[in-house]
Amino acid sequence: MSTSRTVLVTGGNRGIGYAIAERMIADGHRVAVTARSGSGPAGSLTVHAEMTDAASIDAAFTQIEAELGAVEVIVANAGITRDTLLLRMSEEEFTSVIDTNLTGTFRVVKRAAKGLLKGRFGRVILMSSVVALYGSPGQINYSSSKAALVGFARSLTRELGSRGITANVIAPGFIETDMTAALGEDQQKQYLSQIPAARFGQVAEIAGAVSFLAGDDAAYISGAVIPIDGGLGMGH
Ligand code: NDP
Repeated sequence: MSTSRTVLVTGGNRGIGYAIAERMIADGHRVAVTARSGSGPAGSLTVHAEMTDAASIDAAFTQIEAELGAVEVIVANAGITRDTLLLRMSEEEFTSVIDTNLTGTFRVVKRAAKGLLKGRFGRVILMSSVVALYGSPGQINYSSSKAALVGFARSLTRELGSRGITANVIAPGFIETDMTAALGEDQQKQYLSQIPAARFGQVAEIAGAVSFLAGDDAAYISGAVIPIDGGLGMGH
């Protein structure tokens, strides 16, 4: 059994984030989730936060610190897609995805950093995607935002690695959630035909990897990109 930690999962009211929060509670951690609507699983503290707004993230951290203590494990999971082909993509469609997925992660990790340094312990887990390195038509904005998280985690590892802080990236393939349900049936069939495991992934399969990365056994893993994609992205 790993040491009990204070964990923050962004976007923990549904999908992958909700499953991660459930798993972290089952692992015995103190768990807070951010939500814009709804709430996290039973046993979690739900705080309101908007990833595009540093002040709301700051307020969320202040509330968590007061109720659960300093955040030690950050799972930067909140993210959006706004898919369309390059020639049709507006600058706003590009920058809004970057603002939520990449700059939102920056805002969260920056706010957490002082506390991690003070505690000389931290686990930063960034939710990327197989398309970060595989590429995906119609997702120039999204794949760019997710690829940037690799540089983010590796630079963070070089900045803070000597202080007991690790930073890793999880790159899920096609996981059954609202985000993928929004894809058309044809697109889903096309993905399925390319996945060696011949099935889509389950949210619990992502939560299992997060549980490992947050646990005591993962203390010497940093700057890694962990694919959970049934083999879809092999060769990265
Ligand atoms: P969902 O669309 O089901 O959930 C997204 C979550 O992010 C929600 O909790 C949502 O909150 C939150 N969120 C989005 N924008 C903001 C914002 N501006 N401020 C605060 N919260 C926000 O996504 P998934 O569970 O499918 O995906 C979770 C993560 O995993 C994402 O980063 C996604 O890119 C990544 N991923 C998912 C894959 C998949 O196959 N599902 C594959 C690869 C990566 P709200 O409910 O309020 O909108």
